[in-house]
Amino acid sequence: MGLRFYNTLTRKVDPFEPLEPGHVRLYTCGPTVYNAAHIGNFRAYVFEDLLRRYLKFKGFRVTQVMNLTDVDDKTIKGAREAGLSLNDFTRQFKDMFFEDVKTLNVEPAEHYPAATDHIPEMIGLLEQLMKKGFAYRSEDGSIYFSIKKFPAYGRLAHLDLSGLKAGARVAQDEYEKENAADFALWKAWDEKDGEVGWEAPWGRGRPGWHIECSAMSMKYLGESFDIHTGGVDNIFPHHEDEIAQSEAATGKPFVRFWLHCAHLIVDGRKMSKSLGNFYTLRDLLGRGYSGREIRYELMATHYRQWLNFTFDSLQAARAALDRLDEFRRRLDLASAGSVAGRMPSWVEVARAGFVAAMDDDLNISGALGALFDMVHAGNKAMDAGETDGAAARAALDAFADMDRVLGLLQSAQGTADAAIQGLVARRQQARAEKNWPEADRLRKELLALGWTVKDTPRGPQLKKA
Ligand code: AMP
Ligand code: ZN
Repeated sequence: MGLRFYNTLTRKVDPFEPLEPGHVRLYTCGPTVYNAAHIGNFRAYVFEDLLRRYLKFKGFRVTQVMNLTDVDDKTIKGAREAGLSLNDFTRQFKDMFFEDVKTLNVEPAEHYPAATDHIPEMIGLLEQLMKKGFAYRSEDGSIYFSIKKFPAYGRLAHLDLSGLKAGARVAQDEYEKENAADFALWKAWDEKDGEVGWEAPWGRGRPGWHIECSAMSMKYLGESFDIHTGGVDNIFPHHEDEIAQSEAATGKPFVRFWLHCAHLIVDGRKMSKSLGNFYTLRDLLGRGYSGREIRYELMATHYRQWLNFTFDSLQAARAALDRLDEFRRRLDLASAGSVAGRMPSWVEVARAGFVAAMDDDLNISGALGALFDMVHAGNKAMDAGETDGAAARAALDAFADMDRVLGLLQSAQGTADAAIQGLVARRQQARAEKNWPEADRLRKELLALGWTVKDTPRGPQLKKA
């Protein structure tokens, strides 16, 4: 069947091929840097990471752009309240964001453009829109997009525009579907903006939020590109407005595939700053959960389903990872010194199941199911003594390959590196030779490095001390 995605634009699952063979151009709406992102935001970034990694797994080169919204209504308000310049205010949250995505083992995008570095591109786009008659200047010097000039307006969000009030305008960056109206492309400076403002041919002001993403995506990815993503709250107005601005300016289709993740919810409600029901990544790290446990939790529910966040499910994520770690250790030991041989059938079946599931709109539940079936079958095969070193090595390689997509084993946190695994293997060797003083010495060496070893019938178990 091949790779396919549910496309918000067509409302169906469409087969995926990039416009340029072998190369996927992907735009992912990034953080508004006015506070520490909460784990709801990270659900979106982890979903996008899974998408990116799977595209690479399928052999595509990926160029991903994630913008940083460092000027909009919220950042300006935050800077004013903190008594800081816009730059000083947003810098701290940019730094925090990059630290957090690293903790979650999210692969870096190719470009992280900041809105404040692309004002000339936005002004250029605005000039095009004005020249073509899609934009007009209001009394106060702001520039608005005229939605009646763009008949396709509302296609993404399936808006019914019959009750639309002619000429109605909305100045805020965020508004409800019911208030669909001409939206601000450029906001004339007023005293609330303080020092924030840029000179444009039509007067001093600042860009609206939506034009930022149009300008930055097209600069780095071209006028038409493959995939654009975000959370479902971005469908309207943000993405609807992006399509209108971009297609009106270029006369070309903007994006072919729109993918949106459902929200992370708490007690049935969207996790958000305004409801006060949020956890930041740091809150959870402070409670003793690791980055990869949180990654697992955020990733393991299909992106189009609500993810109900609970501490019980985080606990279950921990148990699932323990199981994967233990299996990997077992394969490590069983394969020590061997080169990969033929893939055992239980690996072949798992790999095929993994790919079939992920091809189907990133069906992660199916993919993880295939992986855990492999753990089960592999343990059984090893218990029965049916797996030699060469088979274990082949299994290990296949596991590592699938983990290029999942990003669960290579995380810096909580996973023993090769040197530690080497010490464990040497200790096993010493035990096999009944060289107890050496085995004991190696146990102490591991402890000094922060790892305890427990000997079980299935082999040694390594845990963070
Ligand atoms: P923002 O910084 O508010 O622009 O949001 C950044 C990204 O996080 C956007 O793609 C949002 O759609 C997404 N997002 C915000 N809240 C949630 C949530 N509770 N669950 C999933 N995604 C969210
Ligand atoms: Zn955006």
